[in-house]
Amino acid sequence: SINAIDKVLEGLNANQRKAVTAPSNARLQIIAGPGTGKTKVLTSRVAYLLLNEHINPQHIIVTTFTKKAALEMMERLEKNLVGQSVDLSKLLIGTFHSICYRIIKIYGKKIGIEDYHIADERDSNQILKEVMENLSDNDRDLLAGVPEDEKLPLQNPRGGADQKFDIKKVKRQISKLKSSGVSYDNYASMNDSNRVVSLFYRLYQTKLEENSLLDFDDCLFKCLDLITSHPVLNFVQHVLVDEFQDSNEIQLQLMYNFARGHPTIPKLQNNVTIVGDPDQSIYGFRDAQAINFEKMNSYYKQKYGKSCEIIHLVENYRSTSDILSLSETVMRQQQTRTQKSLKSQHTTTFKPVYKNLNSSEEEALWISYHIQHLLALPDSPLKYSDFSILVRAAYQTRVIENELVKKRIPYHMIRGRAFWERSEVIAILDYLRVIAHDNDRIAFIRSLNFPKRGFGPKTLESLSQVSAKEAATSGISIYETLKGVLSGEISGVKLNSKNKSSLKDYLGFLEQSREMLANLDTYLNGEVIEYEKKSDLLAKFFKFVFEKSGLAKEYVDEDNQTLNVMEVEKQFREFTPQEVDLPLFIGGTEDDIAETKPNFLSSFIQSIGLYEADAAASETDKSKGKVSVSTIHGSKGLEWNVVFVPGLSEGLLPAGFAIAQGGEELVDEERRCFYVATTRAKSLLYLSSYTTSAGNFYGRSIDKVSRFIEKLNNHQLLGTVQEAFKDWNSLMKLYQILDKNPIPVPDKKQFCIDTFNSLLKSRIDIYMQGIPLSIKQGDFVAGANINTYSNTNMM
Ligand code: ATP
Ligand code: MG
Repeated sequence: SINAIDKVLEGLNANQRKAVTAPSNARLQIIAGPGTGKTKVLTSRVAYLLLNEHINPQHIIVTTFTKKAALEMMERLEKNLVGQSVDLSKLLIGTFHSICYRIIKIYGKKIGIEDYHIADERDSNQILKEVMENLSDNDRDLLAGVPEDEKLPLQNPRGGADQKFDIKKVKRQISKLKSSGVSYDNYASMNDSNRVVSLFYRLYQTKLEENSLLDFDDCLFKCLDLITSHPVLNFVQHVLVDEFQDSNEIQLQLMYNFARGHPTIPKLQNNVTIVGDPDQSIYGFRDAQAINFEKMNSYYKQKYGKSCEIIHLVENYRSTSDILSLSETVMRQQQTRTQKSLKSQHTTTFKPVYKNLNSSEEEALWISYHIQHLLALPDSPLKYSDFSILVRAAYQTRVIENELVKKRIPYHMIRGRAFWERSEVIAILDYLRVIAHDNDRIAFIRSLNFPKRGFGPKTLESLSQVSAKEAATSGISIYETLKGVLSGEISGVKLNSKNKSSLKDYLGFLEQSREMLANLDTYLNGEVIEYEKKSDLLAKFFKFVFEKSGLAKEYVDEDNQTLNVMEVEKQFREFTPQEVDLPLFIGGTEDDIAETKPNFLSSFIQSIGLYEADAAASETDKSKGKVSVSTIHGSKGLEWNVVFVPGLSEGLLPAGFAIAQGGEELVDEERRCFYVATTRAKSLLYLSSYTTSAGNFYGRSIDKVSRFIEKLNNHQLLGTVQEAFKDWNSLMKLYQILDKNPIPVPDKKQFCIDTFNSLLKSRIDIYMQGIPLSIKQGDFVAGANINTYSNTNMM
């Protein structure tokens, strides 16, 4: 209806409006800086396509860079479309990984992928290790014949005389090939192929397939294979991509093919809208290429004889002018950059704050102090969820988390991959995996002896080999193999009596868990059940697995580990399997669609696999009422009122490896990281660094302030906290930035006293900005020195 569309377009500036209402059969690039409303435009455009062009939500694909971003976009859409009869749940929205996963789930059988699971990073490494350790004679000969200059780059320098390969490097190479869409056959036939890589690529891929595993790259790679060879997406009418600057080659190819449309309906072919900002491209390590803007342009130019329509946006609606000038200044130091200037919609005179401290602990203290400080303002316009702390590397959160816990400041980690790679999280997931799948060999072997059940490394090795052989020759799962070994039907593994009883217990435990699970599934698939009831049942099941597996005992004294397992439990309890659903493609029949009955545990495990593939995974409602702590990478596209960026020291940001490499390229990516971090802030930006002669991290000392700060022309762009609190006017300015309607203040003097007292109350024991708060609260309540207060820098 007209009204609903008006509502969608309300408040958009001219260029935003132009982008949103561009004809539906267009190829549109919206290239603009942070906070200019790119995501808002993309979301509004979806609403426009649904309402004005009457495109069925099932026929639109929207990709976002993180799961959190997808959820936020859904929220925005729901707001936009309130009262409309559009079923948003049918929209194909998510990260590239999750969309590909859905497509493979339904149509994978067309390319021979049926029952599979996702191999996480650790699984992949393990497989590669096995491959390297079990080379056939043929392959060995092949390697022996490889010229030195081909194998040397892969050799682990510490490997000594016998041939050792660096698993990480080889994995990285394979991943790079997959993300540029090169299969091992293709690679082997290429002129500049490295024979070592191509051999391991082949062996690794074969092994994945034997174990019905897809690694993260395969999710995209196989999906591309599927949709280029089968018309399963020929119903798609429009494709929209957020954060386009971080797409890699395979994602670009996926986008082209998502958008291909139906061969006989030209109007519905190749309709795409992408938004992005080359200055925010920070996924170079995943082979993302800002150059994809150009590539996309020439791809469609070749098809249609004309370039994509490009729209630039310059009004920044997020950050104050001070925050923007600082961010822009740092960006301008970059070697090559397409110059562009952002116009802030909020001009202020409150500069970002910067301070150098003596250690990461002190820095954490400083941050927590300021959070409490701002919250303690009389009638504070801020709440916990207005704050976020953004770090370059995940490990930096530890010290900060400790401090937040100490101060009882509720916080929420935007979980990156790091969480899912913690050993205790992997351990519990391994048990869930063996319960869910018979043939998950890796999880079986890992869980068999953790907690320790007395299997020696030799026994485990032979169990692993025998089961691999059984799988390859007769297609028997490892679960069946273990049963066979126990009963003596399968030979080749020597078990002592202790081993036998352990194996019997282990298998018995699995059977019990599976029985419980079967009951659970029947129940969950049955009639509608209450949330509490469901949550109870799942908690009971989880507890059973955690305790009966013996894991609970392992972590008795380890608070953090138990807490992490509890976090998994919470996710498990709150998980709802999504029925994977795609419309039937034009010309397809019901037979083409795989039956996907939702099985709770498998769906849960799959979803975890996908979490890991995403840059960050998080549920929005969990962060309500809490300070966010995140890596910069996980913060893309998001915004907060107050942002802290600690660790602005050489070796942290820019990261040590980027400096070590010498060239400008990696340092520029670090600079873009800095830019992404600072442009998350709406009102207040707190930058800090620490330098210490003692600080030795991995042999590097952190003893210099980051070049990004150093180069800020004598810090003219930086301010101090004192300024904000120095007198009534500054204080009011601060209120204005934080909140457009400052509270009415009857008595300026009294307000200053109140402010000061509440700040003092919140932290009497620590100092700030180097000035000890030695003054006691009483001194002021006595009213001795109001004049001193308004004249001196006391904070
Ligand atoms: P990033 O590059 O960081 O992803 P972005 O370009 O996607 O940023 P958005 O997140 O869409 O920017 O918008 C930034 C903020 O500005 C949001 O709070 C959004 O609601 C607001 N905004 C965008 N356009 C307008 C507008 N025309 N009027 C008012 N507010 C706007
Ligand atoms: Mg955005």
